[in-house]
Amino acid sequence: PLYFDYCASTPLHPEVYEELMHSTKQFFANPSSVHDMGFEANVRVEEAREQISALLLVKPNEVVFTSGATESNNLAIQGVVRSWAKKTGQTPHVITTQIEHSSVYNCCKQLATEGIEVTFLPVARNGLVDVTTIEESMQPNTVLVSVMHVNNETGAIQPIQEIGKLLRNKPDIHFHVDGVQGFGKQSLLIEDIDLYTLSGHKIGGPKGIGLLIIKETVELTPLLYGGEQEHGIRPGTTNVPAVLSMAKAIELTLKNREETMRMLTTLHDLVYSKLEAIPGIIMNSAKPPMSSLHIINFSYTGKGITSAILIGILAKQGIIVSSQSACSSKAKASRVLMAMTHDEMISSSSIRLSLHESVSLKDAEYLIESIEKMVNHVKTKNKFELL
Ligand code: PMP
Repeated sequence: PLYFDYCASTPLHPEVYEELMHSTKQFFANPSSVHDMGFEANVRVEEAREQISALLLVKPNEVVFTSGATESNNLAIQGVVRSWAKKTGQTPHVITTQIEHSSVYNCCKQLATEGIEVTFLPVARNGLVDVTTIEESMQPNTVLVSVMHVNNETGAIQPIQEIGKLLRNKPDIHFHVDGVQGFGKQSLLIEDIDLYTLSGHKIGGPKGIGLLIIKETVELTPLLYGGEQEHGIRPGTTNVPAVLSMAKAIELTLKNREETMRMLTTLHDLVYSKLEAIPGIIMNSAKPPMSSLHIINFSYTGKGITSAILIGILAKQGIIVSSQSACSSKAKASRVLMAMTHDEMISSSSIRLSLHESVSLKDAEYLIESIEKMVNHVKTKNKFELL
């Protein structure tokens, strides 16, 4: 089968695989142990932290390793909110959007049930949040703005730089960015960002590792209580091989960025232009520069069938795609597309193609042919035959 679901997860980069195998064998000792083997493992972890901090232009003590982006997002949001609430005794207010990944969205929903004020900002049809609505939503008790860089369903690129500028003179409001899908695809200075999330397995690294950049100015309550690891912000035995592999994945992603972008531009242009020309296809992803090159989302509403059936028709031709984020694939209509289109039909018949630099043009051509066949199949069958 041909895999076009690179947004859900990427294969390990061969060099990351080598690092993972080597360090799993070599550095199994607990890096918090005081003996030589523990010390050596710890040295490697701190080297990885320094390497990452140099690549991301932050300080080493601002890099906190976590189990993945879900944890990083929860730590950022709950951490800031709970710390402020405890310090001031007041009710905090958070500004976010309706199209965030479930690890941000559901975290904010949970906080709302606990009495914390949350504003979920709407987005335009192209998936972008209007920066002025952020400014208009600010209250004296606003402590956090959380907006993702690149949307994992549509590829829409949010105006992070502008939001950062808006918040520059408001030191009491922290800015959190889920950078998972943008990293290595869109350049982004995290200068004006206080909290920044990354995940290993989206960039050729292993699963179960992520990081949160926490700028020195941010006060944050941990999610877990335990040992002194990660300055006590994230206790638990450090996953040494995963940390070293994540550093390698970040290094390679940035090193290969130009080449990746070149490949993705060719692939994206081919797939997008051919898809757009298929009668009945509704494009949900805008064209670059408004949308990232690696994600193309479209709907096909013919016969009123849903994404699951369309995915099944493609699967029979050996094409692997998804509709929504894998983290919310059980929902019927996509929350993200509903926020953009307010159209139940479009939102429940979407397909997300996600590309990778390793995809060949031949495979991309086959993908298009398969989608054309899928459309013809739906057109020529009655609904009963399709179900
Ligand atoms: N944020 C975004 C934008 C994502 O795409 C994902 C993965 N679906 C996550 C967060 C969660 O990442 P992880 O699997 O590392 O928890």
